[in-house]
Amino acid sequence: KEKTLAMIKPDGLLGNYTDKIKMIILESGFSILKEVMVQLDEDNAKHFYTEHSGRNFFPSLIKFMTSGPVIPMVLEKENAVADWRALIGPTDARKAKLSHPQSIRAMCGSATERNCVHGSDSPKAASREISFFFPDMLPG
Ligand code: ATP
Repeated sequence: KEKTLAMIKPDGLLGNYTDKIKMIILESGFSILKEVMVQLDEDNAKHFYTEHSGRNFFPSLIKFMTSGPVIPMVLEKENAVADWRALIGPTDARKAKLSHPQSIRAMCGSATERNCVHGSDSPKAASREISFFFPDMLPG
């Protein structure tokens, strides 16, 4: 089975969506292998989003991602990476509400930045992001 890294972002936690999101995860056939609540500092957030470091929204993204605790989780199922991305919906939560009203971002997000959840965009990103938060987790 495949693993992916899901994360409830600060706006998801602040809006009390944690239980609802976890329910959807389990009902959709994923197993939650690991989860932890952490407060990212600026350094952590910059490393996690290093591929976006040159983007104009980077400083704002770092500020948002360090504004409160997050809950990274390791999810497992067949086709976990693509299926989790499909379940969360488009990056811009306002668009998600229109085009993917059943998606998680439509439910709990509010904007392009404040989109309440993260999902690895490839198996390669998934292994990097899983070891970022769970360094003791064996690959595969
Ligand atoms: P994620 O990687 O968090 O699952 P994504 O793959 O849908 O989201 P990316 O393009 O990788 O989106 O951007 C990472 C995060 O940066 C987004 O989830 C969002 O919070 C923020 N972001 C992306 N584009 C913008 C933008 N134009 N303005 C503000 N924030 C943005």
